[in-house]
Amino acid sequence: MPHTTESITKDEIDVCHEAYDILIKNLASKLKGDDKEMLDAAYRMALDAHKFQRRKSGEPYILHPIAVARICHEEIGLGPTAVICALLHDVVEDTPIELDEIFEKFGPKITRIVDGLTKLDGLYNVGNTNAENLKKVLSTLVEDVRVVLIKMADRIHNLRTIGAMPVHKQIKIAAETEFIYAPLAHRLGLYKIKSEFEDIILKITDPEVYLELEEKIKTSEKERQKFIKSFLSPIKNKLDELNIPFRTIGRVKAISSIYQKIQNKNVPFERVYDLFAIRIIIDVPVEEEKRACWHIYSLITDFYKPIPERLKDWITSPKGNGYESLHTTIIGPKGRFVEIQIRTERMDDIAERGFAAHWKYKGKKNQNSVYDGWLDNIRTLLDNQEGDAIDFLNDFKTNLFKKEVYVFTPNGEMRILPLGATALDFAFDIHSDIGIKASSIKVNGKLVPMGYKLVNGDQVTVNTSKNQKPNKDWINIVVTGKARSKIRQSLNSAKKIQADLGKEILVRKLKNLKVDFEENMDFLVNQYGFRTRMEFYAAVADEHVKTSDFKKFVIENSKLCLPKEDIVEKEEVKKTSKKAKKKVQLVVINGEENQQYEYQLSRCCNPVKGDEIFAFVSSTQGMKIHRKNCKNASNLFTNYGYRILKAEWQGMTRSKFIVQLEIEGLDTGIGVIQNITNEISGKLGINMKSLSIAEKEGIFEGSIGMEVNNLEQLNKVIKKLKTIEGINSVNRITNSE
Ligand code: MN
Repeated sequence: MPHTTESITKDEIDVCHEAYDILIKNLASKLKGDDKEMLDAAYRMALDAHKFQRRKSGEPYILHPIAVARICHEEIGLGPTAVICALLHDVVEDTPIELDEIFEKFGPKITRIVDGLTKLDGLYNVGNTNAENLKKVLSTLVEDVRVVLIKMADRIHNLRTIGAMPVHKQIKIAAETEFIYAPLAHRLGLYKIKSEFEDIILKITDPEVYLELEEKIKTSEKERQKFIKSFLSPIKNKLDELNIPFRTIGRVKAISSIYQKIQNKNVPFERVYDLFAIRIIIDVPVEEEKRACWHIYSLITDFYKPIPERLKDWITSPKGNGYESLHTTIIGPKGRFVEIQIRTERMDDIAERGFAAHWKYKGKKNQNSVYDGWLDNIRTLLDNQEGDAIDFLNDFKTNLFKKEVYVFTPNGEMRILPLGATALDFAFDIHSDIGIKASSIKVNGKLVPMGYKLVNGDQVTVNTSKNQKPNKDWINIVVTGKARSKIRQSLNSAKKIQADLGKEILVRKLKNLKVDFEENMDFLVNQYGFRTRMEFYAAVADEHVKTSDFKKFVIENSKLCLPKEDIVEKEEVKKTSKKAKKKVQLVVINGEENQQYEYQLSRCCNPVKGDEIFAFVSSTQGMKIHRKNCKNASNLFTNYGYRILKAEWQGMTRSKFIVQLEIEGLDTGIGVIQNITNEISGKLGINMKSLSIAEKEGIFEGSIGMEVNNLEQLNKVIKKLKTIEGINSVNRITNSE
């Protein structure tokens, strides 16, 4: 954060006071006791502490904590305590104020939350992978959920104002948001925030696509409103007769979710029919909710024909994140599909604000159990993981962010497991001892393999045996983090015994060779290509590595080393590879224009001159150039941020780039191939490398390989192709490598 030597001006302080006054005005009805004094004290402390600081945009820094505080209250629905913490959230991190001072003035509760927020900061340290960050986020989450909710508000505000940041930082922040905060917001049911995260991520990573969709939504708005109106008018009359307070919303879905639809279903914008959903929200007491919602359902389906497969009853069994609603899709006017969401005000509040709204309804409908179970799960994961953050992350992602399957114990108790969970996962879910000792499993009375994938409604019985022990294959059978970490633990203890044995063998062997154990072990581990001593020891015990083989080494000065010829051979290889290096430098790495770097254009996204790019130093394949919107980019940025280098295209150099385009369309029977060849090779004079087209039921799909000079030329080709009759979509192919 830039410090200036000069304090913010008087005029600026007035602006800050105004912003703070709005916050207080909106919060007024929630203030009790000495809340107001505490708020004022927090504001004064933050104002004074940040007075020499400005944001990237130049405005006084204090406006940021005030904005975060407002988001906490107005958008997430948090109370005065959280608002005080939000005002103070950057004070300890960035100013001379110490935690002690906060403790003195505000007491233990606020201090604990501010401390949690401070610990969550400093996320961009080199070598600190995002997996570790996530672990940090989750540890504070289980302590006080408000820490994470305030952090979400902080992140939202930073994203809303991200325009002032340099682009490479924007991408990094976007990647981290995509990796940690968006899924977490989803899991906590903070639907609104999650959508906003995803929209901003898309805007940063693929601005063209984003702006195009935004524009298309805007231009179709009038027509859509008309449609919604004509759709609702007969229903509204019926609802009025019911004498239940209700409101309806016809809202366009988030741009990012429309984009996902376009991607997943591979259809153009014009063919995404469920661009919007119509929501009917009624206000009835909790005990009448279910009946009333179904009543509305039957009312609507009196008018419009429903599509039975699309009926989703999240009221009878709420989603794992607490979401409740009754969804259906009907065939509306002009044969258009319309998604209808029927819910009550309470359900709507939970759907929009998720966890934050839960406090309000706590006890009303046993709501909290969903989150309690989830938090318990996180606790187990955190407790069981010994260090490997990437393992942890994978477990966490598969375990807690996916959709669920609902199954039952023999007593009829319902258990929620992630979709794709197996019978063995179920055993571990009941209790880790039952998992470890599971010998056979029955589903609905029939014996099934351990890897049987659970289906909604399955009743599962696990038989155990004292002599059972997990083996390596079990890791691949389970998908839940809990099962995986328990199996790993059990295997590790077995491995430890193996390793001890191997170490003993090695100690004896090296003693015989009369060389020191410590001094030679790393050399041996390296020579045999193991990552850790432990793995090497175990391999010796298993006889995958034979100690008799050590005679190939020579001993010099009581150290093991390679005989001379071997070394020479390796040097040779190095020399030849150096010769191969000379080629035109198309890309400038790290802004060092005169520096030669060895790199390759990545085949997963085939960058073309003009694309936004970055360089990634891979551990085995040298440096690769990727497009910024490459499918692999967010993974690389978040897990290996320290290996990313800035890359730009060299202005002067010329070269050809190979690209693959994917086309799709309706076969008009007028020889699409000929049209394509005419346009591309003929009119544009571009060298086509390959063209293949397959037709199925009147729809064709094809791919074209070609050489282009730069992005501009490529875009010209894509534009041209789109004008050819019958072609619906043209996209650059990205493979996942
Ligand atoms: Mn902040």
